[in-house]
Amino acid sequence: MPDIYDIVIIGAGPGGLGAGIKAADAGKSYIVLEKGKRVLQGIIDSYPRGKKVYPTIPKNERDPFPIEVLMPPEERIPIEKYVEQIEASMQLQQINIKFGENFESLERDNSKFIIKTGSSVYIARNVILSFGSNIPNDLGVYGEARTVARNLENTQDYIGVTTLVIGGGNAAADIVAALSKVKREASDPKPVYWGHTKKKFKINKDTARELGEEILLGGQIKILQGAIPKIGEVDTEGIDRLYIHQTPSPNAQDDVFMYQGMSFPMKNVIACVGTHGPSAIFNKLNLQQITCTGEICKIAREGEQVLLLTQNLQTSVKGVYAIGGSISPSYMEIHPEGTIKEKKHPNLIYTAIKDAVIAMNEILQT
Ligand SMILES: Cc1cc2nc3c(=O)[nH]c(=O)nc-3n(C[C@H](O)[C@H](O)[C@H](O)COP(=O)(O)OP(=O)(O)OC[C@H]3O[C@@H](n4cnc5c(N)ncnc54)[C@H](O)[C@@H]3O)c2cc1C
Repeated sequence: MPDIYDIVIIGAGPGGLGAGIKAADAGKSYIVLEKGKRVLQGIIDSYPRGKKVYPTIPKNERDPFPIEVLMPPEERIPIEKYVEQIEASMQLQQINIKFGENFESLERDNSKFIIKTGSSVYIARNVILSFGSNIPNDLGVYGEARTVARNLENTQDYIGVTTLVIGGGNAAADIVAALSKVKREASDPKPVYWGHTKKKFKINKDTARELGEEILLGGQIKILQGAIPKIGEVDTEGIDRLYIHQTPSPNAQDDVFMYQGMSFPMKNVIACVGTHGPSAIFNKLNLQQITCTGEICKIAREGEQVLLLTQNLQTSVKGVYAIGGSISPSYMEIHPEGTIKEKKHPNLIYTAIKDAVIAMNEILQT
């Protein structure tokens, strides 16, 4: 172990592994610190079991996957197989990863950084923060529904019960398709309701194809547009329930709204209402963030803080970079002439790897 690493990389997701590969190729001293037990631990923890991994490239990008070995295969393999492939490839390339290392703090000491995990201390000239973004958003209902699941942990738990998945994006769609498939294969007639607060669901082509196939095969999926989680309630049997209602009819008169509502036991509800960047961690590390207001932010929510980054993904602290899911869905990009622009940043494997290449290229030039 060197006294000082050229680069310490936090997190062994696609972004952190991409940075590790680039550092190894360039002959730099580096280490990837991962709090979990395996590479891609964040993916293992957040994808439904058996979910196929898509090599999605964002619409406005023309370049192929920046690091080919990390690209999910075109033939769309399940997540378990993808993890095995990447694990084998990282071992073959002898990428230096230390598991069970939970990053806790980062301090500057002149031109170097002191990085502390639960059990060790590392010193580095550069740090790449690639710890992803897995802090789930609140459902926003009164008495926050704590017993609502945030991910599909065990599909078998939902067999024989009507299930509600809330969320209008890819993560929710993946869970709907995975649940529908296990229910169909178990000949379970109880449907999967898929509710979203808006009328329009926003999913990419790959996810839509998977969902379409599931419906054609007889999957019991019922869509609830404009479905708003309203309140947690306890029924006469003491069961915690989540009440949702659909937007009232537009011809409501005399200030009286007519709602159509449904109520589900909370244990049968999975909420995928997005994740937010680890803003509190960035604050603790004293990295400059900007608070969003209507005029400057189109993507982030009003009042939310987003990280300020250079075009090379360097934070306000020289030598500290932030990449991948940790800066999605948007960050503020500062240009050399001093202008600041909100930058859309899709949370995809492709983007995390591309970020790793951008940050590493900058580190290698300095
Ligand atoms: C359900 C679901 C389905 C998806 N499907 C696809 C898909 O098919 N195709 C696609 O391109 N994208 C998909 N995505 C998005 C994709 O998984 C992410 O964009 C990608 O994983 C981001 O990579 P990352 O390296 O930035 O973060 P992550 O993959 O989240 O990796 C971060 C790593 O850091 C570790 N870590 C976190 N905190 C610490 C700490 N304090 N100390 C040390 N280590 C830490 C985590 O354990 C994790 O291993 C999906 C996301 C979800 C939720």
